[in-house]
Amino acid sequence: MISVSKEPVVVVGNGLAGISFACALRQGGYTGELTLLSDEAEAPYDRPPLSKAYLKDGDTQRIRLDESRLNGARLLRGVRAEMLDLDGRKLTLSDGQVIPWGTLVLATGARPRELRSLEAFGKPTLTLRTLDDARRLRELIQPGRLLLLIGAGVIGLELAATAREAGCGVTVLESQARVMGRTAPPTLSDYVAGRHLRAGVDLRLGRVMAECVEGEAVLDDGSRIAPDFVVVGIGVRSNDELARAAGIRCDDGIFVDGHGRTSAPGVLAVGDVARQVHPISGEVVRIETWSNAQMQGAAAARSWLNSDTPSFAETPWYWSDQYDLRIQGVGIPRGEREVVRGDVSAGKFALLQFQGRKLVGASCVNNGKDFGLLRKLVGLEYEANDQQWASAPDLRKIA
Ligand code: FAD
Ligand code: NAD
Repeated sequence: MISVSKEPVVVVGNGLAGISFACALRQGGYTGELTLLSDEAEAPYDRPPLSKAYLKDGDTQRIRLDESRLNGARLLRGVRAEMLDLDGRKLTLSDGQVIPWGTLVLATGARPRELRSLEAFGKPTLTLRTLDDARRLRELIQPGRLLLLIGAGVIGLELAATAREAGCGVTVLESQARVMGRTAPPTLSDYVAGRHLRAGVDLRLGRVMAECVEGEAVLDDGSRIAPDFVVVGIGVRSNDELARAAGIRCDDGIFVDGHGRTSAPGVLAVGDVARQVHPISGEVVRIETWSNAQMQGAAAARSWLNSDTPSFAETPWYWSDQYDLRIQGVGIPRGEREVVRGDVSAGKFALLQFQGRKLVGASCVNNGKDFGLLRKLVGLEYEANDQQWASAPDLRKIA
């Protein structure tokens, strides 16, 4: 058998997952050739502020990812990886360069799903993923303007809060009966919807746009909305085309094992583009969170450096900031039983999801203290009864 060198390492995508992989590689002692490339011309940046702080302060310096630990890496910006040759271990870039790799890391992330029916709307219509999108949005968010948000997921609701606070009128259109259906249990959806209603958001649940006519959106109940601009936040698709065209196993995401390895020798995938086993549900899913991009990226690098590294099995978690709410969730947002800790009406609480005695998920609002502990407790079975979970002053005592 011919042995193939693991070097040089080439990382496609310099979002959080790509940068985390590369930094962990350097931190773990790798001094060899390392290239990071991205089709974005921007220096690497963090995405969470794009729907929140950046729209308020416009400060690009505060959102930069730290590249200082990449010592000596070659950084290529504004070039796209276009073709992957697995047998020859080469990557063809949009500027014509063909670069060799011993290990290729696909950290290509995801892109927003679009709504075709809005193509001829005649009003500014955008999605939010990149710093350029956020720059455009910052100019559009002005007091007195009406924003139509399509989709009441995390993007839609974070933007609704930011735009209301900036004095915009906001209408949110959601096809499902509740908000944040992908990430929140129903009790949390209801609470968050109530907060938006109190802030003056016109929330239309269970509604879709039937057509758009001369700058007006016509809904499926016949009502009409004439916004000044529209943002579509109806979920994402993974950027897995490069891998798929090369024959790597994909299905809206690149299948990886607990070490970030794909079906092709020498090729890893990390972050939003990776499809991995969820440690609680056992489903093979893409985990679209900041913490996964950061931790799974770094874990794949540690595995690459040392084959004894245990499989990555961190329970996924996320946060979302809306108005005065810090929402945090860990595990899965559905169980056969829910236990409420704290007072929902007072706006500080935790919702615990159980499958039998197993704690499978938790969602908190303005309750960082419980969340810090619940992050560690999720995934195991406990003897405590619901009353104890609901009222124990200190969760450590019952676990
Ligand atoms: P990405 O950040 O998408 O980076 C992938 C990079 O690869 C991109 O720059 C892309 O252009 C580039 N690329 C793709 N294809 C190619 C190619 N062929 N050649 C070269 N380059 C390529 N998560 C939370 O937990 N909490 C939050 O509050 C939160 N807020 C968010 C707010 C916004 C507006 C967005 C968009 C996301 C938010 N997230 C949040 C999710 C989190 O930011 C993502 O999960 C994370 O950024 C994923 O990182 P990634 O590196 O996998 O992918
Ligand atoms: P999402 O999956 O969270 O929500 C999409 C929403 O759009 C769902 O509620 C869905 O029912 C609705 N929808 C779908 N089609 C529709 C249609 N035709 N009309 C009306 N509603 C429709 O996705 P998102 O909010 O677009 O977020 C995109 C990405 O950004 C995700 O990867 C997300 O994780 C990431 N993000 C995360 C955070 C966070 O974790 N705080 C914040 C912002 C963005």
